[in-house]
Amino acid sequence: MSQPIDRLALIGIGLIGSSIARGVREAGLAREVVVQSRRPETVAAAERLALGNRYTTSAADAADGADLVILSIPVGACGDVAAEIAPRLKPGAIVSDVGSVKASVVRQVQPKLPAGVHFVPAHPVAGTEHSGPEAGFAELFRNRWCILTPPDGADEAAVQTVRRFWEALGANVEIMAPDHHDLVLAITSHVPHLIAYNIVGTAAHLEEVTQSEVMKFAAGGFRDFTRIAASDPTMWRDVFLHNKDAVLEMLARFSEDLTALQRAIRFGDGEALFDLFSRTRAIRRGIIEAGQETAAPDFGRIGKGPAS
Ligand code: NAP
Repeated sequence: MSQPIDRLALIGIGLIGSSIARGVREAGLAREVVVQSRRPETVAAAERLALGNRYTTSAADAADGADLVILSIPVGACGDVAAEIAPRLKPGAIVSDVGSVKASVVRQVQPKLPAGVHFVPAHPVAGTEHSGPEAGFAELFRNRWCILTPPDGADEAAVQTVRRFWEALGANVEIMAPDHHDLVLAITSHVPHLIAYNIVGTAAHLEEVTQSEVMKFAAGGFRDFTRIAASDPTMWRDVFLHNKDAVLEMLARFSEDLTALQRAIRFGDGEALFDLFSRTRAIRRGIIEAGQETAAPDFGRIGKGPAS
């Protein structure tokens, strides 16, 4: 960024908020960073990690006089917090977020903000299965996508400020309509998480009812599912409640394709199975070539690891 932001307010300082804070500190992207979290113990942890210059449990106090306010809290909490900070936002302030669902956040937040405040929703497509301020790291957004979903008629200068901010954190920025974002992310992120939660739940249930050691013999593929299924329950509950239509639409398509695979297995159609597995292998290679994943067998996830 050519000019640092004068005052940045980070509302919520978990994995994503604290990764932003670390990136901002490293690259000198703000003159002052005000850190907020609901619970005093989270604020204390952020202070121990020196993630900002000032600390508070009050979202309204944090937003007061800030030039850029970023909500890094569960999707379902964004409306209430927007209402709380609205009276304290200064004219010309930019409000953004990092929610994994966009149309619902736009619906919740936009009507609460006063005229003259610019709302530029964002979703950094990067994360891990860990939560809390200790889990963050400055490199989280490097070479990852950050999708902005500015509403129609959004202030172009505000959009550019948010774009430059994410680029300075190392992200590649793309602009999308909120509904389109939600449909794309439903199949690339939300449904895969649901499948992981489901398969781990099924295996756990099987272990219980058969009294046998299903988990002990978990192979590599299952272990990868357990990593995804360890993702934050609050965050993911909100994702499914707030991206209901797109997730249900993608789940319906997924079920149709699964039924086709079931038929191929039943009727011994090896060609159909081989064709699909060959196509999906090529897709995986394409993702590695695009630099969105490593070829290492543990997917580079020992330690902090890249996006989920
Ligand atoms: P996190 O590590 O669990 O941190 C959540 C933060 O939100 C904490 O500061 C927490 O405060 C606060 N919070 C929780 N419930 C709240 C409520 N009802 N009202 C106000 N504040 C509340 O979560 P995260 O992984 O950073 O996720 C934050 C956002 O990023 C979510 O919207 C998620 O969709 C999005 N996102 C996550 C990922 C990922 O992989 N994790 C990736 C991209 C985007 P206290 O600790 O003080 O309670």
